[in-house]
Amino acid sequence: MKYAREGPQRRPVELRIQDWKELYEPMPEDKLKAQGARCMDCGVPFCQSTNGCPVVNLIPEWNDLVHRGRWRDALKALHMTNNVPEFTGRLCPAPCESACVLGINEDPVSIRIVEWNIIDKGFDEGWVQPILPTLSTGKTVAIVGSGPAGLAAAQQLARAGHKVTLFEKADRIGGLLRYGIPDFKMEKWVLDRRLDQMKAEGVEFTTGVYIGTDISGEELRRRFDAVGLAMGAEQPRELPVPGRELTGIHLAMDYLTQQNKRNAGDTITAETITAKGKRVVIIGGGDTGSDCLGTAHRQGCAEAHQFELLSEPPPKRAGSTPWPLWPMQLRTSHAHEEGCDRQWSISTTKFTGHNGHVTKLYAQRVSFENGKFVPAPGSEFEINADLVLLAMGFTGPVKNGLLDGLGVKYDARGNAATDQNYMTNVAGVFAGGDVRRGASLIVWAIAEGRKMAAAVDQYLQAGKSAKSAAA
Ligand SMILES: Cc1cc2nc3c(=O)[nH]c(=O)nc-3n(C[C@H](O)[C@H](O)[C@H](O)COP(=O)(O)OP(=O)(O)OC[C@H]3O[C@@H](n4cnc5c(N)ncnc54)[C@H](O)[C@@H]3O)c2cc1C
Ligand code: SF4
Repeated sequence: MKYAREGPQRRPVELRIQDWKELYEPMPEDKLKAQGARCMDCGVPFCQSTNGCPVVNLIPEWNDLVHRGRWRDALKALHMTNNVPEFTGRLCPAPCESACVLGINEDPVSIRIVEWNIIDKGFDEGWVQPILPTLSTGKTVAIVGSGPAGLAAAQQLARAGHKVTLFEKADRIGGLLRYGIPDFKMEKWVLDRRLDQMKAEGVEFTTGVYIGTDISGEELRRRFDAVGLAMGAEQPRELPVPGRELTGIHLAMDYLTQQNKRNAGDTITAETITAKGKRVVIIGGGDTGSDCLGTAHRQGCAEAHQFELLSEPPPKRAGSTPWPLWPMQLRTSHAHEEGCDRQWSISTTKFTGHNGHVTKLYAQRVSFENGKFVPAPGSEFEINADLVLLAMGFTGPVKNGLLDGLGVKYDARGNAATDQNYMTNVAGVFAGGDVRRGASLIVWAIAEGRKMAAAVDQYLQAGKSAKSAAA
């Protein structure tokens, strides 16, 4: 009743597009305490329900502790449910806030920013230290993939006393946190300081190893007591239209990875993909498209357009998604704030080019009728483009190689299917994160990584082993 909702301020557009640093200004402690005080300690905290926080963070508890200035206790409460709140504090879309009871008739509590400040204070004060296991079980676990699901699972299992080796095909650890998410959303020292803690806790990181090619899944089963698949949903949705083969048309992940590597100081030997001085069209209106847009601004694009196939969402929560559901509504990101021609209900029909390089994109307006997209007669148009970025999402995990090699079964959506104990149909092989859910959110990956770890621990405690199952 005394305080209004306040969130962190973004740095001014004209300044922030000159660098790759994080977007937000720090928020003073008195403001954070006031935000904590807005939490009503509801009898049924919907922020923690299935529509709210997937890791079931103890939100009312740590809001109150922050309000009272008990930051170290707040950190303890936060770490009970979330291994890596520095990722969610920065990057989570905060479904908890959409489910906050105060949100029924007021602005909801600023939960995410409180979470972010608890963990950053924890690191600043030196309170985040390695937690060493009190026993060694002598059991070995291989985790494949080092995104948030793999990291959360590896940390939980190492702390339970198992010997964990995490395999990653890329040259650095972190999954999409490393090479998908741009630095302006999360600088990479944030990831590195957590990895230092995990190394000290005994997790062995092995990069540049493509499981399924360099080491087969079967060999992994023979070598380890359990295998956890946390390999993400990396199969990009394609746009099979005439002209797709022209140069200057790239998958969003190729583009984003290159800039992240450049920011890390790497020399890029592949063809340079940059928006500098170019007319950029981003196909796909979601978060990946928004990250491409923010990157294009910082590279100095001449103009930027973003086309989405679906129709424009309503400006406020749609009636079909009432509280406490995640609202279907128009979202304008920090990157849109930096400038963009945004259009909805657009279907790209072809590309043409000059000397093999894209110069034009052709499209038409569509409406969604009876389960399919119907072109609006006479709505065809064309637009000049020097760089086209395909950010249309992911269709699921890459199947050939590891998953098909192991004989893992898939669910109806093409993701790795598991039983309720996160075990696939292959004995001793578990799965969690985007590989099991399909492309989702960091907070879901953490939740699944933790649940998969608990299931692996139970399996090992019961004296079972993938080695004997594989024999
Ligand atoms: C551009 C982009 C921006 C996003 N922004 C946000 C955001 O702001 N907030 C949010 O909540 N979510 C965001 N997401 C979604 C989020 O990043 C994912 O849901 C999350 O990272 C999934 O975690 P994961 O651990 O399951 O998989 P990933 O993070 O995809 O990690 C999988 C890892 O497995 C490795 N791997 C795959 N196969 C093998 C193999 N055979 N052998 C060895 N290694 C292998 C991959 O190289 C990768 O490093 C974003 C996604 C993208 C693409
Ligand atoms: S992890 Fe996401 S959903 Fe959970 S409390 Fe933090 S911001 Fe909210």
